[in-house]
Amino acid sequence: MKVPEEIIIDLVKNIAGSDTVKLLHVLLKARKNVSEFKIAEKLGISVNAVRNMIYRLQEYNLVSFTRKKDAVKGWYIYFWAFNVPKAVGLIEDMKKKSIEKNEYELEHIEDTRLYVCKPCRTKVSEEEALESQFFCESCGEILEEQDAAKRRRELNRILKKDREHYKISSELLTKHKAAESKKLEKALAKEKEEKDAARAEAKALKKAEKEKEALKEGKVVKKAAKKTTKKAAKKTTKKAAKKTTKKTAKKTTKKATSKKKVEKEKTIKEPKKKKGFLGKLLKSKK
Ligand SMILES: [Zn+2]
Repeated sequence: MKVPEEIIIDLVKNIAGSDTVKLLHVLLKARKNVSEFKIAEKLGISVNAVRNMIYRLQEYNLVSFTRKKDAVKGWYIYFWAFNVPKAVGLIEDMKKKSIEKNEYELEHIEDTRLYVCKPCRTKVSEEEALESQFFCESCGEILEEQDAAKRRRELNRILKKDREHYKISSELLTKHKAAESKKLEKALAKEKEEKDAARAEAKALKKAEKEKEALKEGKVVKKAAKKTTKKAAKKTTKKAAKKTTKKTAKKTTKKATSKKKVEKEKTIKEPKKKKGFLGKLLKSKK
């Protein structure tokens, strides 16, 4: 945020006193936070005097700090920075109120007779001045009637400057806010982009994993299927082989037994035949 220094100097003078302006210059010149010891050294004043000024600015949140622990001494060292956008916001706010107040006074300057105490700048109505017998209740000095024409000139001078500062700060704030919201938008867009990318990546990874798994399972299934068919085939062939061997064995044994039987039968029959024959022979011989 690039701000005309004069409007910030004016603000700091008004709220924290003229002595703070030199501190402001040190803070505005520095690109990063400045240690309070360095400020004291630069201004040729004590650290306590620096802190006193800083606290006056801190009341309006115009300064921020970082701190570092001193490795040797063990205490914290504070590093200060001036908050320019906050200051501009404060200028806009204060100038707006000041303009309203002074415009009102200018409008009514002819209707009211005011009495002022020059040393302490107290201002009272004619009624109040009569009550205190034209003595200032704060410091005891004599009250003087305000010169309306003089006051009008003064008010106009103040109003001119206030309006100027208000315009500058208001424009700066609008720009600053637009830039900030743009930054935020950009950051959000980037965040969304990153999230989307991460999500897409995770999705792709999941898909790849699923495919891999599916492929593996498919192979396993196929392999298993092959194995089982092979096994089954083996089994069936084995079984078939067994069956056939059994069958052939049975057959051969059957055949063998039947042959044996036949042979037996033959052997049985033959003697019978022989017997018969012999018997016949014998019979015939007989
Ligand atoms: Zn007074």
